Amino acid sequence: MISLHNLAEFDWQTHLKQAVTRLDTLLEAVELTANDVDISEEAARSFTLKVPLTYLARIKKGDPNDPLLLQVLPQKAEMESFPGYSHDPLAEMVSNPAPGLIHKYQGRVLFIVSGACAINCRYCFRRHFPYEDQQLSGDQWQQVLTYLRNDPSISEVIFSGGDPLATSDNRLDRMISDLEAIPHLERLRIHTRLPVVIPQRVTDQLAQRLAQSRFKTVCVLHINHPNEIDDAVGQATLKLRDARVTVLNQAVLLKNINDNAAILHQLSLRLFDYAILPYYLFLLDKVEGAAHFDIDDEAAASLVRQLQATLPGYLVPRLAREVPGKPSKTWIAF
Ligand SMILES: *Cc1c(COP(=O)(O)O)cnc(C)c1O
Ligand code: SF4
Repeated sequence: MISLHNLAEFDWQTHLKQAVTRLDTLLEAVELTANDVDISEEAARSFTLKVPLTYLARIKKGDPNDPLLLQVLPQKAEMESFPGYSHDPLAEMVSNPAPGLIHKYQGRVLFIVSGACAINCRYCFRRHFPYEDQQLSGDQWQQVLTYLRNDPSISEVIFSGGDPLATSDNRLDRMISDLEAIPHLERLRIHTRLPVVIPQRVTDQLAQRLAQSRFKTVCVLHINHPNEIDDAVGQATLKLRDARVTVLNQAVLLKNINDNAAILHQLSLRLFDYAILPYYLFLLDKVEGAAHFDIDDEAAASLVRQLQATLPGYLVPRLAREVPGKPSKTWIAF
């Protein structure tokens, strides 16, 4: 195993392969025992534990309540069922006009580039989707391109997943080139957590490809807590910005992790240290196994009111949730 001291020397693929997937290894690395935390092997079997060393290194040792640890630690509470929580809360399996393509909102399509992720976040709606590593055949990609060519109302393609950056730079390059050949497409957006989890993912090849694209490009990161942003993450983000990418962040409001006005305030400031703007603050998707992370709407609205009272408007995220069947995200009044 790589030690936690020379992480910068390895490329992102190595970090992906070396991710910790065993509970005992994780506990040992963060200097805790099974008596300190409410872990569950059963939860870890139902949705694998997965945490790369680059992320693990940011977890405070010996702290069972560390906000980064709680995002990846399989806990007993995940095995409880609650009414209103389902396996597919977003009903994404409908509105699929071509393989991997979700067209729900006007002008924008979301494309599942890769089902794989660098990290398994316990609150994720994806925890019940078995689509890890499922890659489209050339023929299916042609179906996607045909659909996009035939609908001039589409101006933006969103690369999503899983994590779209779990795929190789060469494949991304070919996909972007195919999309650039469709004249009515104007924007490319990438929804990814990889540069946060493994900052080495922002390779020179990726940055150069985005810089050379005719698209206006947007990268929406997923960062929930200021401790996730170390200098390596910041430098990776600035590299994207140097490639003329607009970098935004979406966070999920999570009980005992970031449901605190001071933490959210710090998060906004820390994001802006590296020119990242807060975009959405999402209420949890009601996915089975994640109920213990949920914050009610009134508490969430109160948190955002406190942010609004203390931060410039551009550092206040939009409080929102995804409601299946709606033509956009649903903003929550605060
Ligand atoms: C969230 C989402 C988008 C993007 O919505 P914005 O409000 O533009 O960020 C697009 N398509 C789908 C299917 C989505 O879930
Ligand atoms: S899709 Fe995003 S939130 Fe879900 S497990 Fe992957 S990285 Fe985490």
